[in-house]
Amino acid sequence: MINILFVPFLLLMFATDSLASSETVSGIGKYDDNNVFAKILQNKLPAKVVFENEYVLAFEDINPIRPVHVLIIPKGKYRSLVDFSSKATDQEILAIVRAMGKIAKAMGLTKDGFSLMTNSGHHGGQTVAHLHFHLLGGEPVNWEQALRE
Ligand code: 5GP
Repeated sequence: MINILFVPFLLLMFATDSLASSETVSGIGKYDDNNVFAKILQNKLPAKVVFENEYVLAFEDINPIRPVHVLIIPKGKYRSLVDFSSKATDQEILAIVRAMGKIAKAMGLTKDGFSLMTNSGHHGGQTVAHLHFHLLGGEPVNWEQALRE
């Protein structure tokens, strides 16, 4: 009797586990230690750093699309928001959100405003498979136009 009751429970556990282990974003595979942001974190590539703490690094985008274009990344190995939101620790999540506000303020964006966004996977147009948030400002961001640039 106990065994029969256990079967659906075990099946549920298995289903939940396989969902977690296969969680990914289309077009973005396993974490690659050779992605450009991993190399920046390993000091193998230079970057103009604007903020750093134990969990977060922020640096200027190499190809800015607005006067201020900063990339904010977790130091942990997360490919995208899918990974990060399900696997990062509360400390890592808290640290990056707190850092976002501090960086926007430090970059002088809080008076006139800014955009903060992340691309995930193929349809999102993600080109670097390490989670990053684009902080854009310094002039009206105008997303419709930015997407055509
Ligand atoms: P995504 O298209 O993945 O959302 O954004 C990737 C961003 O990374 C782009 O805005 C691109 O300009 C930037 N990027 C790519 N390679 C480098 C690099 O080596 N250094 C810096 N600072 N930014 C980079």
